[in-house]
Order: sequence, then C-alpha cells, then structure tokens
Amino acid sequence: MSETQLKDVAKKVAKQAYAPYSKFKVGCALLTKSGNVYTGCNVENASYGLTICAERNAIAQAINQEGNVEIETIVVYTPTPTPTPPCGACRQVIHEFGNPKVFSFCETDDFTSHQMSELLPNAFDLSKD
Ligand SMILES: [Zn+2]
Repeated sequence: MSETQLKDVAKKVAKQAYAPYSKFKVGCALLTKSGNVYTGCNVENASYGLTICAERNAIAQAINQEGNVEIETIVVYTPTPTPTPPCGACRQVIHEFGNPKVFSFCETDDFTSHQMSELLPNAFDLSKD
C-alpha cells in the first residue's frame, strides 16, 4: 500500500478520534513488513496525561494482531493547514519497531517525509533478544 493510500486510511480513522479537550483529531495508519495495515486514532482523557496518541494506538493494534512487528511505513494525518510529525513519546515507541519511513499529511497538499532515524537520532535503545 502506498503512502497516499495510507493517508486516506489515516484520514478516515482520524474522524474516530476521541478528542473532546484539544479538538485535535489525529489518525495513523501503518504498514508492517508482513504487508498488513493497522490504524489508530488519539484517545484523550480528562486526566490529560493518560491520553494516547494515534501512532501508539496503531502500534498497539499491530502488536495485538501480529506480536512483534517491523514497521515499514507509518503515516500520520491531522486536519490542520500544516503537517504534524509524531511527538517525542511516539518517536521513541516507533523506534522500538524498526526504522520506517514516517509521513505526516494534513488537509493541504503539504506533507513531511523522514526516515525514523532522522526524527530520533541517538535514540534510547536496549539490546533485544
Ligand atoms: Zn504522540
């Protein structure tokens, strides 16, 4: 699935976002190396710190279905005039599952595209078995 198709999927799931406080609705679609697509939207909470971002929600969906995954492409959509790349917490969580291409799309034609390692250089990392 291309990043443009993933954008359409992310845009659709952004409509499901539970964002009564910020009104900032985010959708995410990711493609795993195994070829599957998973989605997530942000889920806010009255106790703001408990809010989960769309990216981490999509990753949780992928883990639920496949166990350990390698992410090939991750796409974020925000209904904003300019693209919004993933927050710091999400960058660390994305890094855990590979070095994917990260696209951020918005309601205009503007977008950003980075390799994950560019968004989080010198990431915190523990060796895994
Ligand atoms: Zn985030």
